[in-house]
Amino acid sequence: MRLFSKEKKKSETQNEGFWKSVYEGEVSGKFVKSSVGGGKFNPGEHIKNVIIPRIKERGTAIRAAVVFLVSAGIILYAAAGHRAVDKEKELTKILNDRNSDITRQLDETSSELDSVSEEFNRTLTEMEEKNNIIAETDTRMSDLIEANEEQQQTIIEQQQTIGDQQNYIDEQQEIIDNQQQIIDEQQNAIDLTDEAIREIADSIGANISSRNAGTMYNALEKIQKSKEIITNTISDPEKVKQYCELLDEKAAEVNEDLKRYPDYEPAPGKISYTYGNHTSVKNGVTVTTYHRGLDIHNPSSPPVKSAAYGKVTEVHLHNDGTGLGIYVRINHGNGYSTLYGHLASVCVKEGQTVEKGQQIGIMGKTGAATGIHVHIEVYIDGQRVDPITYFDYEFM
Ligand SMILES: [Zn+2]
Repeated sequence: MRLFSKEKKKSETQNEGFWKSVYEGEVSGKFVKSSVGGGKFNPGEHIKNVIIPRIKERGTAIRAAVVFLVSAGIILYAAAGHRAVDKEKELTKILNDRNSDITRQLDETSSELDSVSEEFNRTLTEMEEKNNIIAETDTRMSDLIEANEEQQQTIIEQQQTIGDQQNYIDEQQEIIDNQQQIIDEQQNAIDLTDEAIREIADSIGANISSRNAGTMYNALEKIQKSKEIITNTISDPEKVKQYCELLDEKAAEVNEDLKRYPDYEPAPGKISYTYGNHTSVKNGVTVTTYHRGLDIHNPSSPPVKSAAYGKVTEVHLHNDGTGLGIYVRINHGNGYSTLYGHLASVCVKEGQTVEKGQQIGIMGKTGAATGIHVHIEVYIDGQRVDPITYFDYEFM
């Protein structure tokens, strides 16, 4: 093949030139375009329809040349036609091969495309599924966000409510604190009052003397006034009761002492003879006599009463016209005792308890007496004292 390649190329070039001229009409310039198509040129038809009529037209002068040319053309055409067929076959084969390759490649590519498409579809499906999931998640998220917003709102409202309640609690706490302060102040006032009341009670107690009627009556007066002040100034009835009870206890103590204090005048009358030493002149001689008691004279012979509460310790009923005659002795407690002499009669017995002012007998003139009177003696801790201190008698 290589040996003929040059020649082949040359002839191919010549053929190409020929076919080019034929196609472009440079050889005859009279080719019918319709007779050339799809590579199926018909020389016979061409000669019959074009060339021969032309020859006839130009005359026989050029017939020989024409014949020659035609013959040469036929020969060339035959050779060219043969080569064209070969060429066509070869091209067809190449084309077929190429087709096959392309078809195979197309098949392969198609197969790959199918795989890719399948993969793509799978991915697409997955993406759709994921999209669905995302969409569902979005919906859920939206729902959750909405719910969350509602809850947020609820929380805000609840926080506000809690805040309001906290404010209310703070206000209440403030009120309670204020009330506590008032209570504390009142408690302080009560404590002070307590202390004051105790001081009053103590001062009343401290100043009381069972031997001094004045302090005892003053104490009772103070106690009564204190009770009035307490009742009028303290609003708490319990406190009033408590303080009054405290003072009443003190008053009871004072009254107990006063009850035993011999200051009740035993009988109405006037002083006929005082307690103590009396000097007199008898037959030119000054004589001092000691009178042990206080004589109260009353010619109407009234009842004689006990000067204080106490126990009858002695009833002397023997009357021989000497001394005190019929008399009664009473022990009052607190160191006090009293005696009542010259009685006409007695209405109590030894060991008997008598109240202050209770009758014990009747005034008389038993014993060494010149008239109706009662001889009163007062003792403190066994020692005689002037009875005038305890009574308010006037002189005759
Ligand atoms: Zn006397």
